[in-house]
Amino acid sequence: MIIDAHMHLPSDEPDLESKKRLLLSDIKVNSVDIGIVISDSESESTIGSMDDCAELFSDCPNVYAVAGISPYIKFEEQFEKLKKYLTRGCFVGIKLYCGHEPIYIDDSALKPVFGLAAEFNVPVLFHSGWDNAQYAAPERVKAAAVANPEVRFVCCHCYYPNLAECFEALKGCPNVYFDLSSVADDPEKSPLIAAVLERFVPEMPERFIFGSDYGCCDQRRHIDFIEALNIPTEYRQMLFSLNAEQLYKI
Ligand SMILES: [Zn+2]
Repeated sequence: MIIDAHMHLPSDEPDLESKKRLLLSDIKVNSVDIGIVISDSESESTIGSMDDCAELFSDCPNVYAVAGISPYIKFEEQFEKLKKYLTRGCFVGIKLYCGHEPIYIDDSALKPVFGLAAEFNVPVLFHSGWDNAQYAAPERVKAAAVANPEVRFVCCHCYYPNLAECFEALKGCPNVYFDLSSVADDPEKSPLIAAVLERFVPEMPERFIFGSDYGCCDQRRHIDFIEALNIPTEYRQMLFSLNAEQLYKI
């Protein structure tokens, strides 16, 4: 069983229905059983806004959604809206785009978002690594995780390409999970990243989540990358589906 816990709507399709159709056909081709689609924090976006994603897959029992939000974009309005959607069970998580936007993960402006996540018991996902990585540097993630022990944090991309630094700094924070989306994007870096995962997955097998960043990255390549890791079968199953089932309650 495979849960791809980090997907986006394909940006090149002209409208929401065709984005949905393509995504559903691609997960079928790649034998992905369940997908989690993450919306943008912008009110208009080629990957879909919170509103766009709230009900797009409501007729698909195998696709769930996560809502993007930003303290900089119509925050009060979006916050109230998100609360309503969470009450109705439309979203299984909340995403912050630290680095895409100038928000530090331990910024006090995010307190209301963490409060909402705790109230509805959904995890807070955040972008890390790649460009502008300082906004979710491991020490800041640690500060946020320690200050908000009731919140489960999902570190997307694991401070790519510095995964080892990320795992080392955060292994003592049991409320931080590691979403492996986009880490297999560059085949040249893959052998090194595989070695890091083969070292850290056995140390904390319950905290790794499979994701591909479908919409931006190749889903098949990410599946093949995890399949090829030299880790016990039991841990691979946890990574591919069991951990995400528990984390997102699906
Ligand atoms: Zn993403």
